[in-house]
Amino acid sequence: MNPTPAAEQSRADQGKGLVLVVEDERAISDLLRMYLSREGFGVHVASDGPSGLSFARTLHPVAIILDVGLPGIDGTEVCRQLRADGDWTPILFCTARDDEVDRVLGLELGADDYITKPFSPREVVARVKSVVRRASRANTSEGPLAMGAIKLDPVTRRVTANEVAISLTATEFDLLAHLMAHPGRVFSREQLLSEVWGYAAVVGTRTVDVHVAQVRSKLAESDVIRTVRGVGYAAETPR
Ligand code: CA
Repeated sequence: MNPTPAAEQSRADQGKGLVLVVEDERAISDLLRMYLSREGFGVHVASDGPSGLSFARTLHPVAIILDVGLPGIDGTEVCRQLRADGDWTPILFCTARDDEVDRVLGLELGADDYITKPFSPREVVARVKSVVRRASRANTSEGPLAMGAIKLDPVTRRVTANEVAISLTATEFDLLAHLMAHPGRVFSREQLLSEVWGYAAVVGTRTVDVHVAQVRSKLAESDVIRTVRGVGYAAETPR
């Protein structure tokens, strides 16, 4: 299928970069390579956990598509090791089953997104573009935000609590920034999915709850997020 003029335009606009695909099923990695290349991304495929980890460290991809079930080291462990090194490259997990989704979410690995197989390659590409856009977004029109002990700088994408740096994933950062940019305003989970994740709420709202929980646990006693029961979340200065 030929790309539409609009697709060509967005291709010209977007910052291209290398996407690392860590996937042991050749049919899937071939498909992802084709779709991602068509969008202007460079693609490198690793077919097992250890080589995925090593390419992630040496190639500095803009995003990683990470299968959970992999030979050698499984995807959750690859993610854990990267995060332990302080590597916050956006990671999109591919899970084969719902119980793998539970594992990915439950381990609080610092994944940016996940998608369940079988997936549409178009959907994966849309998600990759979304995480890359969010991770690279440096909006100079937004000044630093402060709330309670938390300071957040949208330009440098740094967050501190009482001047101590806090490591957030791209998604966690954007979620907190979005809430802090609208002090006291309550957002529903659906609103957050559409405004922070940037796509319709097809993944279900549980992912919002998980990311909010991760941000809150990282902010610890400096937490500024309030759960509004039956509605959603808001950020405000703690009383
Ligand atoms: Ca697999």
